[in-house]
Amino acid sequence: MIATPVNCAPISRGCTCGCAEPHRIGRRTTADGAIMLLWSDGQITDRAARIYGTFPLKTMWAAFDLLGFYDVAEVRLFVREWKRAIKLVGANPTTARAETFHRLAAL
Ligand SMILES: [Zn+2]
Repeated sequence: MIATPVNCAPISRGCTCGCAEPHRIGRRTTADGAIMLLWSDGQITDRAARIYGTFPLKTMWAAFDLLGFYDVAEVRLFVREWKRAIKLVGANPTTARAETFHRLAAL
């Protein structure tokens, strides 16, 4: 369970918890066992705070849930192709997922 941040200035926009400061909201494990963290601004990091990219907010959970299919060395590529797919087919998670898989298979 990820704790709700404290000492955070609440605003009307941003994360649904009301906090404007970027904070961790999710954790997934890659296929090879690396822990990846999702931040409220869509950024993906590892536990050492190395940045792997940023998912568009509207689809960040759909994309983040797929990281378990990839090794940590593939995460940056996955993020890049997810963002390209969104630009091409829009922010529908189902079509974005299909386009991303198609793009990655063609590499
Ligand atoms: Zn929050």
